[in-house]
Amino acid sequence: MADEPLHYGEDYHFIPATSAASGLGVSVRPDLYCHTIQIVNICLVGRPGDGAFVLIDAGMPGSADDIISAVEDRFGSGSRPQAIILTHGHFDHVGALIELVREWNVPVYAHKDELPYLTGKARYPEPDASVEGGLLAKISPFFPNEPIQLGSRVQPLPEDGTVPHLPEFRWLHTPGHTPGHISLFRPRDAALIAGDAFVTVRQDSLYKVLTQQTEITGPPRYYTIDWTAARESVRKLAALFPSVAVTGHGAPVAGDELRDGLTKLACDFDRIAVPDYGKYVH
Ligand SMILES: [Zn+2]
Ligand SMILES: [Zn+2]
Repeated sequence: MADEPLHYGEDYHFIPATSAASGLGVSVRPDLYCHTIQIVNICLVGRPGDGAFVLIDAGMPGSADDIISAVEDRFGSGSRPQAIILTHGHFDHVGALIELVREWNVPVYAHKDELPYLTGKARYPEPDASVEGGLLAKISPFFPNEPIQLGSRVQPLPEDGTVPHLPEFRWLHTPGHTPGHISLFRPRDAALIAGDAFVTVRQDSLYKVLTQQTEITGPPRYYTIDWTAARESVRKLAALFPSVAVTGHGAPVAGDELRDGLTKLACDFDRIAVPDYGKYVH
């Protein structure tokens, strides 16, 4: 297993995209930390000082050193997570995964329906440059799309909804953006890690990505392949009435801003989130 070849897709490369939040981190709870890598967020779950924590998602291509620094700044030098849990397998969520797995030698978990895209067996449909939206949608075909090969280093999440090493959390299947997309929810304080099921900055607009202008909106347009499932997933998350949400892109949102924005998105999903045209819109 140790010498199993791990590799990124052949089109993996550094993406020179950034945002006003890049390199910054925010503690939304004492044990819930969101850190921005260029345009995407990673999340560290665990209380500094306790020694045990889990990393959610693995950033952009070439960002392993930044992620290790963020981890060591928070948990101490030489610290490593107990596991890495993936909300889904898009390049901007697995970008540094292989370097991190080699550095830390920790297990990786994802939904079983996402495993084909993490083990080189299936590739995501091409991003849709024709979708209604801004400049980043137009250049999305230049984003890496070939599947990463993690072999037996990635394992399916337990079927019963429990999350390895995070006993207070449950994973929820929130497909639509990808087939095996998940979100993580903690009932005790209604904390939500949403992945890209919904995001707080529109990802097709270069200006909004750069400035990180907050608005609760649907999953990134050029990548979302099943808008019916995406709508159901947003409704499922809105029904939980989360008190705080860390999303894959954009700043964490809490309180009334989250409740009102998510309720509005769930009620008016087709108008707010679904593009007017695009090859995955029917
Ligand atoms: Zn995504
Ligand atoms: Zn994303």
